Amino acid sequence: MLKWNKIYFDLDNTLYSHEYAFERAIQDCYQDVMEEWRDRGLHVPYVPLEDWFEVFKYFSDYYWPGYEEKKYSQQEYRRKRYLSTMKHFDLPNQVDEADRFHEQYYEKANQYVQPYPGLYQTLSFFNQTGIEVGIITNGKQKTQQAKFNKLKLFRYIKQEHFFISEVVGIEKPDQHIFETALGNENPEKALFIGDTWEHDVVGALDASWNAIYLNTQNRPRTSEHQPLVEYKHFTQLLPFFLNKEHLNNEG
Ligand SMILES: [Mg+2]
Repeated sequence: MLKWNKIYFDLDNTLYSHEYAFERAIQDCYQDVMEEWRDRGLHVPYVPLEDWFEVFKYFSDYYWPGYEEKKYSQQEYRRKRYLSTMKHFDLPNQVDEADRFHEQYYEKANQYVQPYPGLYQTLSFFNQTGIEVGIITNGKQKTQQAKFNKLKLFRYIKQEHFFISEVVGIEKPDQHIFETALGNENPEKALFIGDTWEHDVVGALDASWNAIYLNTQNRPRTSEHQPLVEYKHFTQLLPFFLNKEHLNNEG
């Protein structure tokens, strides 16, 4: 029915707002830490939640490239952003507190993982057409699988079509992860949808797939690659697929 036989998605910021879950969970954790200081009778400067989060977000982004370039581990990355934020405000800054903070963050973040509007409607449309739907995501097996379960994606997507970089041993934009998901299918009959230009759009196009840029974070393109279309909201996808140009009436 559709021009494509396989439609694959990225996960974070493509099927749900990672930014929202991150902000809510980090703010919860900071409030817990403040309460703990109060319980222990520590006299610390009062820093409002919004101000603290703004600086935490700044250091998260500041240290991110170094983590991506593997200059330091995930644990070092987490410690750096936490300790730099605490030092910035003259607040207690202990390494073990940084570790505990992040353990709690990963537990809480899952609660705030909510599907983008239109997600289930779109996935059930693909299910009805009999098209293969899947996910290719960079990340750890445990955290990505927890999000998959929280979003109840197992109702629409088979576990065998859920590819996590840690499990496959290859990360986007390496085209081998796209080839793994593709199997024997012709890449021209495969379409990838994601929010990160370099990983999702460039990765898919370089693997000869079609691509849609779901630019949920409003970020500029960084190369001349040409996706089929660019959207800002998940709800814009279903009308695209229902457009008769994208239906294949030959069969
Ligand atoms: Mg993403």
